[in-house]
Amino acid sequence: MNMKRIRTNLLILMTTVATSSLAATGIHFEVSFKEPQAHYAEIKMEISGLRKDYIDVKMPVWTPGSYLVREYSRHVESVEACGTDGAAIAYEKINKNTWRVASAKNDHIVVTYRIYGFEVSVRTNFIDDTHAFLSPAATFMYVDGMIDHPVDVTVIPHPSWSKISTGLEPVPGKPNTYHAADFDVLFDSPIEVGNQDVFTFTATGVHHEIAMVGGGNYDKERLQSDCAAIVEEATNIFGSNPNKRYVFIVHNYQSGGGGLEHFNSTVLGASRNGYQNERSYVGFLGLVAHEYFHLWHVKRLRPIELGPFDYDAENYTSLLWIMEGFTAYFDNLILRRCGFLNEGSYLQALANDINTVENRAGNQIQSVAQASFDAWIKYYRPDENSANTSVSYYNKGALLAMMLDLKILAATGGQKRLDDVLKTAYETFYIQKKRGFEVHEFQALVEGIAGVAVDDIFRAAHTVGTLDYNQYLNAAGYELVDYNEGRELPDLGVTTAAQDGRLTVTGVQRGTGAWDGGINVRDEIIAINGERLDANGKELNRIVQAASVGDELHVLVARDGKVRELRVRLKKDTKGAFNIVPLQNPTPEQKKLGEIWLSLH
Ligand SMILES: [Zn+2]
Repeated sequence: MNMKRIRTNLLILMTTVATSSLAATGIHFEVSFKEPQAHYAEIKMEISGLRKDYIDVKMPVWTPGSYLVREYSRHVESVEACGTDGAAIAYEKINKNTWRVASAKNDHIVVTYRIYGFEVSVRTNFIDDTHAFLSPAATFMYVDGMIDHPVDVTVIPHPSWSKISTGLEPVPGKPNTYHAADFDVLFDSPIEVGNQDVFTFTATGVHHEIAMVGGGNYDKERLQSDCAAIVEEATNIFGSNPNKRYVFIVHNYQSGGGGLEHFNSTVLGASRNGYQNERSYVGFLGLVAHEYFHLWHVKRLRPIELGPFDYDAENYTSLLWIMEGFTAYFDNLILRRCGFLNEGSYLQALANDINTVENRAGNQIQSVAQASFDAWIKYYRPDENSANTSVSYYNKGALLAMMLDLKILAATGGQKRLDDVLKTAYETFYIQKKRGFEVHEFQALVEGIAGVAVDDIFRAAHTVGTLDYNQYLNAAGYELVDYNEGRELPDLGVTTAAQDGRLTVTGVQRGTGAWDGGINVRDEIIAINGERLDANGKELNRIVQAASVGDELHVLVARDGKVRELRVRLKKDTKGAFNIVPLQNPTPEQKKLGEIWLSLH
């Protein structure tokens, strides 16, 4: 559905109803849990004061921040509607996510339904006998054309649960009841109900709650102080913190990850027993920094296409490389500024991004602007060929952010950097203009701060292929080196995994010997040159490494119950082994910019 139409409809509605009795129009939800062990929640939606011939109630098909149509309505069942007198009202399902309720000018309509939730992720419902995580877009229906309407939600926890954690505003005097100014706010406010471990801290004057679900070996005091440091660093970048209250909902699993940003909260996945492992802990802090940074960058400072949202279909933007890529650049930079990463580890993290991007065949096929636009059908729907056809707007976007940061530092003699761009953009578009930005406006703002043209970076976002990192790194006294340069290493071009005791091909890289010779994903590689291989790939690696570029291998594979022998000619490994190292003899200016770039705060 077209958003302009929704807004127009709403205006008409407001005008018509204002003359009758809009003041009485209200929408209220009640959520309860009769059978949490079977992963169900009961939803009651009361709509009063509308008095229309019919009402279309709808379930969103996606949730902002996670760019995939998830068809949340597939988990809705037992929909019923009744009127003021309690008598059933007929409804008709008119498409996959719309129920047309024959309200016949009834003043008070109650729609009830059940939702099933058993998918572990930060953007789907999960309900069991220990807790319920409600992803609001997967839980609450809205009245078509009334996204802007205020709404209250009452949560009735299962008797064995005692706590509710959410960024929604509690309604004074009404226990377990929360208010959202409109459905955009509701859909942006996940709700955790259970017996989570809740602790708080205050940073930059904002009250923060951490709700730990699922237990874990975390150190509360350390988490409080480390998260406070991240909050302060992120707030420093944008100049002010717009929230009064912020909630971290952390889902601890045996092995977990991922996060989703919201206006005044976030949902994070973590490994329950990873907190005492330094590497894993710093990884978790990186996730905290990433999602927290988003409360400005994407939730408030945003491209014009990302809000108001159409909850009925894909919302396209070519700028996820700015929204996700810049966030991915700043998450590690914040860790560096807090001292959680030393200079070497920070540079290593950047080099890892470069290795990931430059060694991926898809970097020659898809630009980050295209990757952003097609996130809905590519990034969020990966398959065995994704590495050959796509690039990540996270990694490559972060590298473009690094280049832009270094370019601004160099052009201004270290007086300005990417922080200044984001702070100014936040003030200009979110606070003053109260709207999203067009890409040309964003580029003009960058150029105003840098004092030089930056079309090289914006062009690179629309171009495929290798980036010229050294042009930017050199200004700060660093260079990118490729330890594989000049080496003639043979490469077969497959990735494999041991599956059911078999050496199974999981990926074939474009342009390699395996690609040319017809090795397929899902092939079991049985033998090479008459030598039987083991399932874990050690023998395969030994044979390839002992061979030379140009050698022909006889590869015996099993495919769909038949055995075939393929002839595969080994090619030179084109993958780089990239590292960022200091220049041998930096000038004082290069040294100065490098220190500013990586300085602790
Ligand atoms: Zn993100």
